[in-house]
Order: sequence, then structure tokens, then C-alpha cells
Amino acid sequence: MQKAQEYVRRIQSNKHMSRFFSKKYKNLVPYTPGEQPAEKKYIKLNTNESPFPPSNKAVEFACRSAYELQLYPDPECRKLTDKLSGILGVSRDEILVTNGSDEILNFAFMAFCDKNHPAAFADITYGFYKVFAEINNIPYFEIPLNEEFKLTFNDYCGINKNIFIANPNAPTGLMISKDEIEKIIKSNPDNIVVVDEAYVDFGAESCIPLIHKYDNLLVTQTFSKSRSMAGARLGFGVGCKEIIKDLNTIKYSTNPYNINRMTMAAGIGALEDEEYTRGNCAEIIKNRIYTENKLKEIGFFTLDSSTNFIFAKHPKISGEHIYIKLKEKGILVRHFEQRRIREYNRITIGTSEQMKSLISALKEILEEV
Ligand code: PMP
Repeated sequence: MQKAQEYVRRIQSNKHMSRFFSKKYKNLVPYTPGEQPAEKKYIKLNTNESPFPPSNKAVEFACRSAYELQLYPDPECRKLTDKLSGILGVSRDEILVTNGSDEILNFAFMAFCDKNHPAAFADITYGFYKVFAEINNIPYFEIPLNEEFKLTFNDYCGINKNIFIANPNAPTGLMISKDEIEKIIKSNPDNIVVVDEAYVDFGAESCIPLIHKYDNLLVTQTFSKSRSMAGARLGFGVGCKEIIKDLNTIKYSTNPYNINRMTMAAGIGALEDEEYTRGNCAEIIKNRIYTENKLKEIGFFTLDSSTNFIFAKHPKISGEHIYIKLKEKGILVRHFEQRRIREYNRITIGTSEQMKSLISALKEILEEV
């Protein structure tokens, strides 16, 4: 049993609830984060972090900014936003930076969804969408992916709901084309379409250029994956000025200083070192192709990944068994208990040495069976 899941079960059980916890949260099932073990050194392939450290510039800038921690950070994040605007080709008022992309996703649920504007997302996708809908008391519809776990864009055309699409999707790793997403955006002109591009740097085409064509599009990205900054918590959203203004209303009503000084400085440093980011992405893609081939050689089925992880299952061994045995051998991957994906594990792409260790461990597990 995963530790984090145990924790979530515990906090869910009535026994551990205080007398004061609001009834409105009595059925809330929180998001289950991947394990972050403190006691043992694992090869950590379970939370889609980068195996590479952040850029030296990011670290240097963050260290320098620590000497100014007595001051609140700039609530407008001007320097970071300006830097992003140059790189993305959008103006400053078309961007909002947030505490991880989780924060802007939550802001989008808060800002645009309600009883009359329900949310829609895939049945197999980022687990936080459901939690954001539930905590904000928003009705939601889960649209099943097809048997191959592909998103059928027609299912989203003209549905009159606010749409949340992870592209590429997690945990499947599959992507859909920008053209298909554009059809979805076009056919739902009175609803917001949020395209969550947390993994876009590993192989999908970004929808950011479409924000100048459609006023109902919000694209979110993160520094957590390709820029090796999961620990800093930095994400952002890009959309038309009006959408960004609405999201700012939510931000200034919850946490105006949502980006701390060190994170803001690290973000600027990372953006000054885009070559380092591109090099790391290329290395991850190379290791992904190696791992996919090796997994197939030893009998695994994998979905076509455009991300920094692979979703894989073996026809003869259960997903849970593989997860447990890998953990015993010091390798952490992510296993989900959801019915449709129970036989799979999501494996983050690490360094080439880590991937070689993974393949040897899997070979041993197969031999033991
Ligand atoms: N979207 C997807 C699809 C993710 O997998 C994640 C990472 N767990 C996020 C958003 C949020 O990432 P972060 O808050 O670290 O930017």
C-alpha cells in the first residue's frame, strides 16, 4: 500500500476529523500525491520530476535573493512575467504566474465554473481536476477516453461545458494535435477551454499561439518538469487579457504574494538558460526511446509517450505486483488503483543509468515469476 494513500485514507476517516471540520467538506477526497520518501534512497521514478538539477543560473539567482527575504516579493512578478512574455511571444497582461500550475488550474475552476457552468474532463487524466471541482462545489462530467486511452476530440465539440484537457495527457502520456484542440475551442465559444501543458516540452505542440485567436482559451504550463524546478513551485497561465484579469481577481483574493522571492529569482535564472532546458529535454526524450524499446523487448505494452514518463503494463504480471517488487528493489514508480488503469505503472524517465537499473530490476522480477 502506498504511504500517501494510507495518509489520505486516514484523514478521510471520520475518526480523525475534528468536531469543527465544516460539513461542506465531509465527502471531499483529497488528491493523492506521489510518495516523497525521507528515510530511504530510492531511484525515484514516481512523480515525473526531472532527474537533472536546476540550471546553475536558477540556483545562483535564488541564493542571491535569499538575502532579501525580509521583504515581501513583488505581487505582480514583473521581471519574471516580462521575461516569459519575451520567450512566449505574448504580452505581459496575457500571463499570470502561480504557485505551481496546480494553483492556476484551481484558480480557473474557481473563476469560470459553477452550477450553471459545469466542468468536463477525461475519465483518465490528472487526478487534481476532480478534487478542484469538488472543493469548489462544481458539478463535473468525466468523458471516457476510448479503449486505447485516446481522447476523441468529437466528444468535446459543442458540449456547453468548461473543458479541462491535459495535453499531453497524464498518466497515459498520449497527446492530441493542436488542430484537434482548436476544433474543440472553436465549437465551445461560450465556454472556457483549459489546456494543461505540464508536459508539452517533451513532444507536443503548444496551443499558446491560439490565445490571440480565441478569447475562451487558457493554456497552463509549469517549471516543475522540463526546467527541473518542482521543488520551487512555479507555473503559469496564458490567455487573453480579460481571462488573465479574472484570474488575477482570484489571486488577489486568496494570496497576492503567491510566488516567493527565491522562486521568482530561480524562475528568471532558468529562463536565462533555455539552452540547458532544451538539452535536458533532448536527453529525456533519448532515454524515453531507449526505455520504451527495452520494455517492449521484455514483453511490456507501452502507450506512445510524448512526455517524461511511460505508461506500461505486462500481460502476465499485475501492475501492483510490479510496483511492489520494484519498490523492494529500491525503485519507486507510480501505481494507480483506478479500475481502467490498475494493470499499468507510470514510470518517470530518469538518467540513462537509472533507466538501465529499471530494466535490470524488471528482468529480475520477470525471472522470479
Ligand atoms: N498538470 C499535470 C497533468 C500534472 O501531471 C501536474 C503534476 N503533478 C500538474 C499539472 C501540476 O504541476 P505543478 O503544480 O508542479 O506545476
